[in-house]
Amino acid sequence: MMETYRIGPIRPPSEASSLLLQVTQGCTWNKCKFCNLYRHTKFKAYTVDSVKQDIDIMAQYAEKALEHQRADGTWDVDSINQELSQMPSEQQNCYYTIAMWLMNGGKNVFLQDGNTLALSGGKLTDVLSYLRSVFPHIQRVTSYGRAENLSKVSPEEFAELKAAGLDRIHSGYESGSDEVLRLVNKGVTSQQQITAGQNIKAGGLELSVYFMPGLGGKVLSQENAKGMANVVSQVNPDFVRLRTASVKPETDLWQDLREGRFALCSEDEKVREIRTLITDSHGVDTRIVSDHIINLLQAVKGSLATDKEKMLAIIDEYLGLPEQEKRMFQIARRMGQVISLKEMDRMSPASKQRFQRLAEQGGDEDQWTEKMNAMIGRYI
Ligand code: SF4
Repeated sequence: MMETYRIGPIRPPSEASSLLLQVTQGCTWNKCKFCNLYRHTKFKAYTVDSVKQDIDIMAQYAEKALEHQRADGTWDVDSINQELSQMPSEQQNCYYTIAMWLMNGGKNVFLQDGNTLALSGGKLTDVLSYLRSVFPHIQRVTSYGRAENLSKVSPEEFAELKAAGLDRIHSGYESGSDEVLRLVNKGVTSQQQITAGQNIKAGGLELSVYFMPGLGGKVLSQENAKGMANVVSQVNPDFVRLRTASVKPETDLWQDLREGRFALCSEDEKVREIRTLITDSHGVDTRIVSDHIINLLQAVKGSLATDKEKMLAIIDEYLGLPEQEKRMFQIARRMGQVISLKEMDRMSPASKQRFQRLAEQGGDEDQWTEKMNAMIGRYI
């Protein structure tokens, strides 16, 4: 009987077709006020031997799956499905994951969980080298890391990780404002983010950072964006991935909201934050990526070197709409009915009337903002 390997719960959307290798479990910090991802999971670093064992088990499943690849490179999916149907359920998930990964080219691997870069460099290089030796066709290996830990790693140490096979680090910066970072108890300063980012880039790795428009609430809305623009300008990360903030029940920020210490940003304020991020980031070729359904204007994406005007035009088209039409778009977007303003234009009169009714019945500005917050929260 085949053994199974660990598969953790979380990965960035951009790693949807990556093989997930669990090197750690949970998050070393676990105190960000907006996050309850790992609230009930104690951080654990698996031993190098145990991770290597998982890689060996993955290789066994891969060998099995490759028996169903024809000489011309196509796959006999029916025979894989038949084999899957005869396996116990715990093995099915492992086999299915590996088979899908290989069918998609077997290119990328993501090292889980929330802060794998907290591991000592030696352990990680050992894991990376072994992974690359077992699966030599891998093209890209990525991992999450917290800026606070990353700021203690030198460019030379990042270069060693790069040489061992790590290509990209994802890091949830969320804001570049020290006030906002303190407000949400992120446990990191903007200077640590800058040091971390500059060292990662100097070590030859790609850097993907996350920014949360709305995280500073109404009071620190523009502060949130200006801080992020400052960090981006100093680091030139390869990617800034937008993650619109929403305050979810069972988080500390929800408690702050309920007790009046935090006021939600409106949808427009969040859009204006993205505008400020774009206008105030200078001298960089970072790509703005909008790869999550929680972002209102999914079409706002592109290079800060060449696409600023295009992105600002989309934002300004939205901001220039009459209030009622903005609400109609917001609710249609939050219900997953449209992706862009253009799709809204193409909507049937009956659908438009429906969203018009919902917009009119949405209450005052605060009630509407709370409603949008709840709707965004359903997606995360
Ligand atoms: S560092 Fe990331 S995973 Fe950990 S608590 Fe903060 S947001 Fe959540």
